[in-house]
Amino acid sequence: MSQQDYDEYGLGTRGVRAGQHRTNEMEQSEPIFLTSSFTFDSAAQAAARFSGEENGNIYSRFTNPTVRAFEQRLAALEGGEACVGTASGMSAILATAMTLLRSGDHVVASAGLFGTTTSLFSNILPKFGVESSFVPLTDYTAWEAAITPRTRFLFLETPSNPLTEVADIARLAELAHAHDCLLIVDNCFCTPVLQRPLELGADLVIHSATKYLDGQGRCVGGAVVGDRKTVGEEILGFLRTAGPTMSPFNAWVFLKGLETLRLRMRVHSDNAMALADWLQHQPGVRKVNYPGLAAHPQHALASSQQTGYGGIVSFEVEGGRESAWRLIDSTRLVSITANLGDAKTTITHPATTTHGRISPEQRAACGVTEGLIRLSVGLEDVADLQTDLERALARS
Ligand SMILES: *Cc1c(COP(=O)(O)O)cnc(C)c1O
Repeated sequence: MSQQDYDEYGLGTRGVRAGQHRTNEMEQSEPIFLTSSFTFDSAAQAAARFSGEENGNIYSRFTNPTVRAFEQRLAALEGGEACVGTASGMSAILATAMTLLRSGDHVVASAGLFGTTTSLFSNILPKFGVESSFVPLTDYTAWEAAITPRTRFLFLETPSNPLTEVADIARLAELAHAHDCLLIVDNCFCTPVLQRPLELGADLVIHSATKYLDGQGRCVGGAVVGDRKTVGEEILGFLRTAGPTMSPFNAWVFLKGLETLRLRMRVHSDNAMALADWLQHQPGVRKVNYPGLAAHPQHALASSQQTGYGGIVSFEVEGGRESAWRLIDSTRLVSITANLGDAKTTITHPATTTHGRISPEQRAACGVTEGLIRLSVGLEDVADLQTDLERALARS
């Protein structure tokens, strides 16, 4: 079936069926094409493939059937015309930036981005003459004021990491388009199961497949989803030449991850909701950030823009870094690791890990305090997670 044929199907069906192209072996599960190159019938066919006269595989830096299956499945889930897989989430962002920007251009991005993304925009892109401005995610006046005639795109994550602030995608898409800019949304936290930015007006969606798309903490990868020309031709063109392509093995892991994504996101969301609600009433907890809580400042927006609230919860403990570290060190069940989107619950101190490389000023601007702890709530029994955190809170 072609991509369009999946338009009439629901997300569950797309997640398990889209992108499958059976070989003559009639396999039920998608195979891994672990091959770096492909053979030709003749020298003439090789020439025709290289000149572009004939479509077909040449080399896995250009195309690979397993990577293509992953790309088509994710495109079907996001509702995009095209998708390209990349070696990591960061290379998806880099490929997008290198494709869309030239020296003298400007980017407006939200202040609470994933730390490495902030670092890419503020430390690496300036070497190539590209400047970025960072604005508070939900301050729409600041977004508009930061746009200059050289601004090419607005870039954001919603919900944000680690404070779970929620931005109005439709509103920012309108603002971007009024200024001839694109809107790019990093949809890592929600995945297409909980939020489809393209349907809300965004132009491109970025993924770190490392997180929920894999969902079991095994492989590093990324993707960009959007229109056929920007993604299917321009960004793909950059990737083929520059090289940060997705490995077929990783693509297969992500492809199979997409089959259970809808089920997993539901349990991540239910568990996170239960824990966030419970944390609000625990002594020593100053504040809990989770879009599903009625007290969350953008709870209403999250309820209309998303179909669930996701698995990321952050909370601030009294006593700053010392208490936060003691709490983390007192857990027994949850894993101390900076990854997120895993079946296993992970606990992180953002100020000294994921957000440790950005400047203290940038950290303060995005609200990452010394007492802040981030949980990526997994698929364990929520009662066991509560017991673990209760013990840790008592010792912090
Ligand atoms: C992890 C992450 C990235 C980077 O992805 P990698 O696969 O680690 O390169 C980008 N954005 C968000 C929101 C992330 O959580």
